[in-house]
Amino acid sequence: MSQPSPHTPDNCLFCKIATGQIPSRKVYEDEEILAFHDINPWAPVHFLMIPKKHVTSMAQVDAAHTALLGRMMVLAPGLALAQGCNPYPEGGFRMVINTGAEGGQEVQHLHLHVMGGPRPWLKG
Ligand code: AMP
Ligand code: ZN
Repeated sequence: MSQPSPHTPDNCLFCKIATGQIPSRKVYEDEEILAFHDINPWAPVHFLMIPKKHVTSMAQVDAAHTALLGRMMVLAPGLALAQGCNPYPEGGFRMVINTGAEGGQEVQHLHLHVMGGPRPWLKG
């Protein structure tokens, strides 16, 4: 089996989005997290949250990422409401982190999908 090529900021789509080399429709930004609309939304609300500093996937996460991942999780519900998700419990949202080929991960930079809004959705 071929080895994955080593990461550089020049070969990672979401690193380029994090630095602004590739444009995105921003939802939220701070020193370490960026949220932007998914280019191919499955749901009326569908945005992605990424660490600005490259992390390949949940398979590479360790204790040093605890605070960062905690902040992403804690930020997501407020952003979901601000983007138009309806309130819990009738509304709500879905948070998904696809990991690896069998986990359905297509972009090799950790990203949290946040999806919501009225059903039906295109997928999921
Ligand atoms: P995953 O399959 O979990 O790796 O999801 C990758 C997601 O990135 C998909 O939902 C894509 O629609 C989305 N995506 C790919 N390229 C871009 C882009 N340039 N801007 C915003 N979202 C993108
Ligand atoms: Zn990256």
